[in-house]
Amino acid sequence: MAKYTDASCRLCRREKEKLYLKGSRCYTEKCALTKRQSAPGQHGKRNSKLSEYGTQLREKQKVKRIYGVLEKQFKHYFEEADRKQGRTGDNLLTILESRLDNVVYRLGFANSRKEARQLVRHNHFTVDGKKMNIPSYLVKPGQTILVKDKSKKSQKFVEIVENNSGKRVPDFLSVDFDELKGSVLFMPTKEHVEIPVEEHLIVELYSK
Ligand code: SF4
Repeated sequence: MAKYTDASCRLCRREKEKLYLKGSRCYTEKCALTKRQSAPGQHGKRNSKLSEYGTQLREKQKVKRIYGVLEKQFKHYFEEADRKQGRTGDNLLTILESRLDNVVYRLGFANSRKEARQLVRHNHFTVDGKKMNIPSYLVKPGQTILVKDKSKKSQKFVEIVENNSGKRVPDFLSVDFDELKGSVLFMPTKEHVEIPVEEHLIVELYSK
């Protein structure tokens, strides 16, 4: 299966913005962007002004990197968003926020989306009582995500409960850390995205 292999911090440095790809490390002084602001590579220190196309492209890359989605799937999401009623950019963000790996991360059952993807693939969750190991599965309102009983006792989930049980979750979700169970209450919108995104730039890019 194709996946991102670039070191996470390089992706943030490329976008010159914290994308919070590494969990708790991102909130400490160890964050690579705190230490070094320039883009990676030989020409990283150049401060050239981006063209209109370049700005749109960078925004798309940023969003792909936040959610860990590759180009083909991202384009597919865009086409799906375009077919739906309403604003394409808003629809796109709703789709991305509805991915199971994102929901698992936003519930606090993983420290990053990358870790959430791994935990989903390794069969630690059920959705509405059924085994679900597809990170791109789109969770719908009313569905319940549960950590499997066997997994609850694992060191990973013991640590996750210790670290994340007091944290607030976005209002489109509800969580019960005693049961390691979460639900989607309603469809997420642009307001629920953690990092400011100018989704209109992505719509403009794909509309060329
Ligand atoms: Fe990005 Fe986190 Fe690395 Fe900082 S520590 S550069 S926010 S992935």
